[in-house]
Amino acid sequence: MSYKEKGYITPEELEKLGLLPPRERLEKGPVVIAECPEEIPCNICVHVCPFKAIKMDKIYEIPRIDWNKCIGCGVCVPQCPGQALFVVDLSKPGQALITLPYEFLPRPEKGMRVKLLNRQGKPVGEGVIVKAWQHDRTWAVTVSVPKDKWLEVRAIWIPEK
Ligand code: SF4
Ligand code: SF4
Repeated sequence: MSYKEKGYITPEELEKLGLLPPRERLEKGPVVIAECPEEIPCNICVHVCPFKAIKMDKIYEIPRIDWNKCIGCGVCVPQCPGQALFVVDLSKPGQALITLPYEFLPRPEKGMRVKLLNRQGKPVGEGVIVKAWQHDRTWAVTVSVPKDKWLEVRAIWIPEK
């Protein structure tokens, strides 16, 4: 069953579509992953990237990242209407840093312990927010996660106190 039927994409499908950066690049420092496999008429990410790291010749093509130009700044993350952009950093020992979009309450704050969710919304562990900033009404939240979960965690849930 493909992502079209399931409603979520798997790491194997991302790999097959050429959407995952090489491991060596991920270990050098933060870099964006565009989990946007559908040919939809959207190219916002191409225009908001200050480093011109996202390429698309026609508006309905799949966005392609130049992993050498992307510095993993995260500017594009809260601006993607499909919430399909994630920054992953595997350069730190023992942990991965993932920057992901967040549009729920409570407000995310540095130091909060959060539940980590996979692409199906299922809990897969706990992490800590290391940074959070807002663009319009969408947050970009950088969360520290166990390193072996970098390809699994794509959302967070902040339990009410
Ligand atoms: S993370 Fe920053 S440099 Fe990389 S594609 Fe997004 S906006 Fe561009
Ligand atoms: S802005 Fe988001 S939804 Fe639009 S093309 Fe880029 S990654 Fe896909």
